[in-house]
Parts: sequence; structure tokens; C-alpha cells
Amino acid sequence: MSIANNFPKGEIKELKELLAVSQRIVVTCHVRPDGDAIGSSMAWYHMLQGMGKDVSVVIPDRAPRSLMFLPGSRDMVVFTQHDLWSRRLLRDAELVLMCDFNTSSRQGNLGDIVSECNARKVLIDHHKHPDINCDVVFSYPEMSSASELSFRLMAALGLYLDMNLDCATCLLTGMVTDTQNFTVNCDNHETYEIMLRLLEKGVDKSRIIREAVKSTTYSALKLNSYAIGEKLEIFERHKAAVITLDAGELKRFGYEKGDTEGLVNEPLRIRGIVYSAFLREDADCVKVSMRSVDGFPVDKICRDHFGGGGHLMAAGGEFYGSIKDAYDILLNHMGDYDKYLPKNISKQD
Ligand code: 5GP
Ligand code: MN
Repeated sequence: MSIANNFPKGEIKELKELLAVSQRIVVTCHVRPDGDAIGSSMAWYHMLQGMGKDVSVVIPDRAPRSLMFLPGSRDMVVFTQHDLWSRRLLRDAELVLMCDFNTSSRQGNLGDIVSECNARKVLIDHHKHPDINCDVVFSYPEMSSASELSFRLMAALGLYLDMNLDCATCLLTGMVTDTQNFTVNCDNHETYEIMLRLLEKGVDKSRIIREAVKSTTYSALKLNSYAIGEKLEIFERHKAAVITLDAGELKRFGYEKGDTEGLVNEPLRIRGIVYSAFLREDADCVKVSMRSVDGFPVDKICRDHFGGGGHLMAAGGEFYGSIKDAYDILLNHMGDYDKYLPKNISKQD
């Protein structure tokens, strides 16, 4: 199929050979894993299991509850909960597939263990500027998701017919979540051809959307309503929106991992708003999430001030300091980025 033919022949051959000669394989992804990190990793898990490999998925920390409907999700080895087991799997691995991240620091404390293990390594990612030591690198920032890339790789390896329903379900979950239900990063018509191929496998798309995107809890819904009702600030001059949630507020609403997924997108629905930032005071750092429209480079803000990066219009970072300092830095530097604002946009009405 045409969607499988765009990779350099040498690299597909290398990947094919690595898969052929490796029995013990670990698949891994980034911290605070999202639908694409888990979707692409678990898709490889199902594919490689079908090939008779001894495969494990080792993730840096727990996946949000919204992704636990994915087939096989209970088999994932969580590094923060099973340190020794994770280390042993990586020590014994012959091959590691690294999904949905471009630098070792995105794996938190697991990063060094992955970097130092003796296995051959393959990067499967869609972030710009990969900076990671791997034997084979598949870095395609123009793709919607690491899951789309994984589908294309599987097809290029001649494995499309071997893709089972579980694998296809994981792939479509990654595509649905990274494109926000096919609303961003999906201008390439081939992305829909891939969706079609996955639907042909019998994937239940409605279920994916219900479980991975829409489902929430009463307390999470209240937390998000509070964030928008009481904590959203608009900076009209900069066409920016900011939400902060400190540890006390999170505690008050019984915050659990994943409860604020998607919150940063909400302010972008306001006409005239070009970018949105969400600062959340986690236990170890202030998690920064940013989203934008019209090509405004939020990845630059995250890189310049929050030790992060990501995609042009969907980026994030971690700030090691108080949430007030993170907020002040953001506000003090907003003016530096006004030059990137689009010239003619509709005013707020
Ligand atoms: P989110 O806001 O959903 O956490 O992340 C959006 C995107 O920003 C991710 O897909 C990832 O590309 C990037 N990102 C998020 N957090 C970080 C971070 O701490 N460091 C880097 N380099 N990128 C991040
Ligand atoms: Mn991704």
C-alpha cells in the first residue's frame, strides 16, 4: 500500500533484521504517558507478541485511568512501581523500541537506565530535533502521532495482514488522542486512509473516544469547571489565556493523574485567543502545558523558559520552582512573543 512506501529502504531492512534476530524486546515511552505514548507502545506489544517475541512494555510512570481500557494495559511494567523488574527487563533486552519521545530526559529517571542498557535501540517518534542515541532512527515530525508512524512502519515491514484487532485498537487510540479526535495535526489525507485500514480491522472508534477522550469522574469534571470558572485569565493584548492550579486546589478536588487532560485546549475555543497555558503544581515540579492556533510557536516558549519543547502548537515543560515563579516568568515574557501573533484575527465578541 502507498502509505508504506515512503521510508528509506535501508532503514526498514535494518529494522526487519533487528526484529528477526531479537527475542527479548522492550518497548518504552515518555513520562506522564498519553494516548499516543501508550497506544504506540502497546501496538508494538501486540504485534511482537503475535510474532512470538518475548516482549514487555516498560513505562516510566503510571498511565492515566482513561487508557486502561486498552487491551493488555495491565501487562505494562511501571518503573515507579517495579524498579527492579524494569531494570532486569532492560538489562536482558536485545532490542528496545522507543516510542513518542525525542530525548532521554523525557523518560525521567528511566532515561539513564534505557540509555545505558546494552540492547540495540530504535526510535519511533514524531517530535522535531531527535537527540537520542539509537541504532535506527525513525523521526517523522510531520506525522500526526507515533501511532500513525507505527502503522506505517508495520505496513512497510509487510506486517499489515498480521495486525490483529488489539494492535489496531491501540494504534487508533494514539491517533485519536494526539489529533484531538482528528481536529489537529491531521491535514494529510493519508492519515484518514490509515484510519480506514484500522476500522477495517474492526476497531470500535466510538469506544475509544468514549473511554480515552470523553470519560471522566464527577470530581474531575468539577475540577475542570472550577479551573475555567474561577482560574482562567485572559491577557487580551497577548491573545493569551492562562490557567493555574496549585497543589491545594488539586487536593481539594481529589485530583488524580489524567483529570486535567484536555483542559489546556478549552480556552482556545474563545474567539481571538491564540494560545493557552496551563500550569499545574505536581508533587515533583510545575507541569507546564501549552497549546496554540495559527502557527504560534508555543514550543519556543516551553523551550526558552520551562526546559521543555514539543510540537509547534502543542508543547510542554517542567518547571522546578514555585508555581508563582512559573506564572511570573510566563507573564513577564509574554510580550517577547507578540511578534509571532497573527496580524488579522477576529476580535473577541
Ligand atoms: P502535554 O501538554 O499534553 O503534556 O504535552 C504536549 C506535548 O508537549 C507532548 O506531546 C510533548 O511533545 C511535549 N511535552 C510535554 N511536556 C514536555 C516536557 O517536559 N519536555 C519536552 N521536551 N516536551 C514536552
Ligand atoms: Mn505523540
